Amino acid sequence: MASDHIYIRGLRVMALIGVLPAERLAPQPLQIDVEMDVNLAVAGQTDDLGDTANYGAIADAIAVLVRASSDILLERLIARIADCVLSFDHVAAVTVTLTKLQPPIDEDIDSTAVSITRTRQSVNPTVRHRAIVALGTNIGDRVAHLQFALDHLPQVVAESQVFETDPVGGPQNQDAYLNMVVALDTYLDPYALLRLLNAVEAQAQRERTIHWGPRTLDLDILFYDNITINDDLLTIPHPRLHERRFVLQPLSEIAPELCPPKWDTTLEAGGVHARGSLSNLISTTEH
Ligand code: ATP
Ligand code: CA
Ligand code: CA
Repeated sequence: MASDHIYIRGLRVMALIGVLPAERLAPQPLQIDVEMDVNLAVAGQTDDLGDTANYGAIADAIAVLVRASSDILLERLIARIADCVLSFDHVAAVTVTLTKLQPPIDEDIDSTAVSITRTRQSVNPTVRHRAIVALGTNIGDRVAHLQFALDHLPQVVAESQVFETDPVGGPQNQDAYLNMVVALDTYLDPYALLRLLNAVEAQAQRERTIHWGPRTLDLDILFYDNITINDDLLTIPHPRLHERRFVLQPLSEIAPELCPPKWDTTLEAGGVHARGSLSNLISTTEH
């Protein structure tokens, strides 16, 4: 654990919070104080913002989150703030103090506050980690979207075949998907990997308007080493993978040990057709 710290002190934001009827009606002033454990030795040498926690971006993200809150309890909001701060690069641990500046209490009182400390799931940044990622696309040039993703992911060490699958969930009359699963070697921690995947989706013009709606590109982390994460930003292993033939079929090709036992007899069959490897598809498309 680093013994260096970065502080954000006295961030004041109006937010809807509390159990009392008056508190549900109007926003009230909150103050957020943050102490982050960040190893500052590298940035001390390089003078590079990329080597430290960007407190400006972190303060902005906290303010956006708190302003949009309608939580009942400070305890809930503060947990979400801690998760948000820990999702930023280089933050190893965080202590958040959340203060109600005008608590609705009859006694003469300055403020009330809660404070928590949370530590990031420690992932060693100097060793490579194995992540398993699911790819899906059902709009536009689907092969090109998959290829775009493969070109922009960290080192891809295994690729399943590409499967053409009927849509599952979401609106009626969506077009068929192409799905595949890949294994990656990466130095990125799970949150940095998620940010990278979101950036690649965005570059492929992914829009999030309809839940489970059509998409140019969807990139989900199925597994990351053997860790489990359950917070507002990330759930690993992916919570719905065991229900999805369009994920399990390609997964069984590159990491069968990660499939639940007998998945292929317990899941409803149908709607999944092997299309060969992406390179075959590309050369077929080209000729
Ligand atoms: P599903 O999660 O059921 O496959 P989806 O992929 O359509 O649905 P998205 O809109 O792409 O859902 O993602 C919603 C949120 O899921 C993202 O903002 C992301 O923070 C979160 N998320 C949680 N766990 C994961 C994970 N393991 N991989 C990718 N995103 C995840
Ligand atoms: Ca998905
Ligand atoms: Ca997704």
